[in-house]
Amino acid sequence: MNRDTICVQGGYTPGNGEPRQIPIIQSTTFKYATSEDMGKLFDLEADGYFYSRLQNPTCDLVAKKICELEDGTAAMLTSSGQAANFFALFNLCEAGDHIVASSTIYGGTFNLISVTMKKMGIEATFVDPLCTEEELNAAFRPNTKAVFGETIANPALTVLDIEKFAKAAHAHGVPLIVDNTFPTPVNCRPFAWGADIVTHSTTKYMDGHGAVLGGAIVDSGKFDWMAHAEKFPGLCTPDDSYHGITYAERFGKEGAFITKATAQLMRDFGSMQSPMNAYMLNLGLESLHVRMHRHCENGMAVAQFLEAHPKVAYVNYCGLASSPYHALAEKYLPKGSCGVVSFGLAGGREAASTFMKNLKLAAIETHVADARTCCLNPASSTHRQMNDEQLKAAGVPAELVRMSCGLESSEDLIADIAQALDKI
Ligand SMILES: *Cc1c(COP(=O)(O)O)cnc(C)c1O
Repeated sequence: MNRDTICVQGGYTPGNGEPRQIPIIQSTTFKYATSEDMGKLFDLEADGYFYSRLQNPTCDLVAKKICELEDGTAAMLTSSGQAANFFALFNLCEAGDHIVASSTIYGGTFNLISVTMKKMGIEATFVDPLCTEEELNAAFRPNTKAVFGETIANPALTVLDIEKFAKAAHAHGVPLIVDNTFPTPVNCRPFAWGADIVTHSTTKYMDGHGAVLGGAIVDSGKFDWMAHAEKFPGLCTPDDSYHGITYAERFGKEGAFITKATAQLMRDFGSMQSPMNAYMLNLGLESLHVRMHRHCENGMAVAQFLEAHPKVAYVNYCGLASSPYHALAEKYLPKGSCGVVSFGLAGGREAASTFMKNLKLAAIETHVADARTCCLNPASSTHRQMNDEQLKAAGVPAELVRMSCGLESSEDLIADIAQALDKI
């Protein structure tokens, strides 16, 4: 089926007389007739639900839709995008292991890997996403267990050369994990280019209304864990905390990764999405394909207007022919990228502040990727503790404005931007 149809109808097909909308199973627990019945669930010998910290039927229906959208074999929801990325990495790594990651990834994920996972004994090497194959290969160590990148990085807006990263990962016997939050599967399906695991912050375009936090992990079912069993003992040797199950043997390439992440990590860390949030996420997914099209149209129109304006020094948007990522975008994002545009004002920090103050439609928020246009000047908000030199080094110079184009009329958005630029 076409992605558009999966957005609307995927994941759930009601039977005769059953609810048309997915049911919200607002229950922590599930009832069984005998202890033996329940025992089989605990042993992963039977399918079913026993406690919503690990799995919930509403969440599973929505995860199934996202799985179908990404052409995966198994998927799970998490309470946030942060939880999705942590689980995806920690499902493969333990103390003493190492990760290779793109240097332009989302600040929250960069912090997760470089600070918090480091405290857990997991090291990382960050590489420029435009590095050569030689530089990329040089980042690997014998204890490397995963490669991580974002299809379109937030907020750097770099585009990942997925095939280049997948090739290097596979040459070293490890999977490539791609955070596909910004393009969504409507605009890019990383599995088609060799990625093995995809993650999402569903908080962004998938929900799309700034209403619910959430995340998702999808497995392509293609990575052969058993062929690299010595690297992945967690998947390829018996799990004593689960009655000696060997996930890769019992659940195969298609199911091992998500089963382990659910049975072990969800059980121990408990970052499940609430059924109510999953229901609201699904409402967002039903219109994702229609909204992404409009977000991209508005992003492109705003980027083109800004590029031609004398008070704007530069614009970062991979849809523009002037972007260093344009060729990658044409390959991986032929239908469009996303609605997020960043740009620098020729007048520097003060011009950025005057511009933002005078916007009427675009609100100042730390959020991105929802129906209402919003913007942020990192130098005066999220990165305000840094001086101008530090800001430049962090890739968020003082004059930079990040604008997330919503679903309004592009004519109104451009008129708003034009009048705010006039005030500088
Ligand atoms: C927002 C974001 C995250 C974190 O997601 P939360 O839902 O806020 O936890 C991770 N990756 C990317 C690319 C994001 O934009």
